Amino acid sequence: MSRKTVTLLLFSDIIEIMLEKFAKKNQNIFFDAHFHYAVCKELGIELPDFGSGISWSGISCAHSKEEFEIQKDAPSCVIQAYGMHPQNAANENIKESTAFLEELLSKNLISFIGEAGFDFFNDEFKAAAALQEEIWNIQLELAIKYNIPLVVHCRKANHKLFEYSRQLSRLPEVLFHSFMGPPVEARSLLERGINAYFSFGKQVMNGNKKVIACVQELPEERILAETDAPFQFLKGEKYTELTDIQRINEKIYQLSHGFEMTNVIS
Ligand SMILES: [Zn+2]
Repeated sequence: MSRKTVTLLLFSDIIEIMLEKFAKKNQNIFFDAHFHYAVCKELGIELPDFGSGISWSGISCAHSKEEFEIQKDAPSCVIQAYGMHPQNAANENIKESTAFLEELLSKNLISFIGEAGFDFFNDEFKAAAALQEEIWNIQLELAIKYNIPLVVHCRKANHKLFEYSRQLSRLPEVLFHSFMGPPVEARSLLERGINAYFSFGKQVMNGNKKVIACVQELPEERILAETDAPFQFLKGEKYTELTDIQRINEKIYQLSHGFEMTNVIS
């Protein structure tokens, strides 16, 4: 069988921009829709090098001034995002972080706000629900004001997304990162006029039924691959490496097309 070169990535407006910006025509590109550059750097996780002819780019979220100081010096293939994370809501200096976010927006130093969202995964996070909502509203309003896409983190709180669907539909794009499904809720977000994209990481590899159903059922131009590196590692792994975008991407391709991607990397 002849070796076929497949364009390894994916589907959305973001990807089109990336292809124009970072890759020459016919060049393959891996795109990581969500990772954490500063945390990776701290752990010694390097940016991927897939060899000649294959580009890599990704969106990195910083969640403190310190993380952003490290992230801002990353090479231009790292797309800059900053946000107040719902898991940090109880410890966030909201006034300071809001001022910092506004500064980044007014100086055009970030392309996305995020992660922003809701996390009701455990009692500790749930106890900060009001603070989560406060920082969510600040970021949502700034995203609308600056007409900038939002990267959303949402665990056990999809009802909040529907509560805010009208405001979310005013944004140019929304990326629901590590979306946990089910697909009917993803479709419902799209039907409410949200220009929604959904990114999936290692849940596609550990048999997560709702996530796999999303990958199989949602329009592929709405689906992106992410590592969330260094987090969300599989059993037996120490971290998620940035190079893992390759196997995540291959798995997503296989799930959505029903057959294996012919790999261009030997
Ligand atoms: Zn993350």
